[in-house]
Amino acid sequence: MREVENTNVLEAAQGQIQKACEKLELEAEYYERLKWPQRVIEVVIPVRMDSGEIRVFKGFRSQHLDTLGPAKGGVRFHPDVTLDEIKALSMWMSMKCSLVGLPFSGGKGGVICNPKELSKREIEQLSRGYIRAIAPVIGSKVDIPAPDVYTNPQVMAWMVDEYSKVSGYTDFGIVTGKPLILGGSKGRDKATAMGCFITVREALKKLKLNLQGSEVVIQGFGNAGYNLAVLLHDAGAKIIGVSDSKGGILNPNGIDPTVLESVKNEKGSVIHGEGKVISNEELLELECDVLVPAALENQIREDNAFNIKAKIVAEAANGPTTVIGNSILYERGVLVIPDILASAGGVTVSYFEWVQNLMNYYWSEDEVNRKLEEIMVHSFERVYNMHYEKEVDMSSAAFMVAIERIADGMRIRGF
Ligand code: GLU
Repeated sequence: MREVENTNVLEAAQGQIQKACEKLELEAEYYERLKWPQRVIEVVIPVRMDSGEIRVFKGFRSQHLDTLGPAKGGVRFHPDVTLDEIKALSMWMSMKCSLVGLPFSGGKGGVICNPKELSKREIEQLSRGYIRAIAPVIGSKVDIPAPDVYTNPQVMAWMVDEYSKVSGYTDFGIVTGKPLILGGSKGRDKATAMGCFITVREALKKLKLNLQGSEVVIQGFGNAGYNLAVLLHDAGAKIIGVSDSKGGILNPNGIDPTVLESVKNEKGSVIHGEGKVISNEELLELECDVLVPAALENQIREDNAFNIKAKIVAEAANGPTTVIGNSILYERGVLVIPDILASAGGVTVSYFEWVQNLMNYYWSEDEVNRKLEEIMVHSFERVYNMHYEKEVDMSSAAFMVAIERIADGMRIRGF
């Protein structure tokens, strides 16, 4: 029987870092340091449920590095969260922050839970309990959480409030992705999508394709997927397929994302929108110009990478393509915009939010977007040039750009 592909994301992250260290001809000690997070904490969070019983949830926070500044990265609430996944995601955050030149290293957190089965009050208790539990190891100069899968500005607001109670004063710089009234930044809600949009636009230019009229398929209709669909639709691209956790729809005439969003809000899924209902697997294999995996890890693998028909794959999610999946896409000439680049818009505007919190002075949305545009275009160029000059795939190129900067920092600071 054929072996099933290894989809352990920690091993994948380690493999990507090792490969980039080798290509950069760094001494072995760099990889030895980079292959593990610096600090990992596992916490239990007792929550009194609406029924009156107490349920105990498990959560994690991983801080990969402190070379280039405090740890930075989101917190996800998801039933499939594992410690290995959170470690890998913290390593990817180090790469993402370094790649786009932010003064941060990587962190990530998660709680094993199914927010779809929790009431608003239960989610609030869980958010407060989680931040209390990790309070001793975070701080606006130490490690700054943010939203990720199934967490949002409201969750960040509860976390700021709870952390302020613990510390005795309000410190807005403790988390990013907050509501505007509590020190959030203009443009943060759409930042991941905006960053991805800019990289897609740049990638289309490289292939001499027009954004106007290009056919796009998006897997995932959360913060990144939905906002990206709107930006692309407004710029004249045709969204022909969209999915969420329940399945997908195909509509060759084009989907209006705002209409679909209201259908999803009303009926619970995009599958009730106008078009043919298809599975998430079928969606990935649709004929299109741009495919955007904007959901979870391990979507494009050894077993389906040969069937991907897109010219560009823009990884708006973290780790949506396995290592073998990525090699297959590269050999087949698909231009991949790797996750640590395509999804870096969120943390970039988180950085702007944090800067605004530290100086207590707030910028206009135009100013935020201008600064984001500059960083994303520059970062795309650096990755593309590395890919072209060193004849490596885009993902390896992105890791190489990121690790070059981290290694410089490690060399000068000392390990
Ligand atoms: N969760 C987002 C990411 O994976 C944002 C992290 C942040 O803003 O710190 O990049």
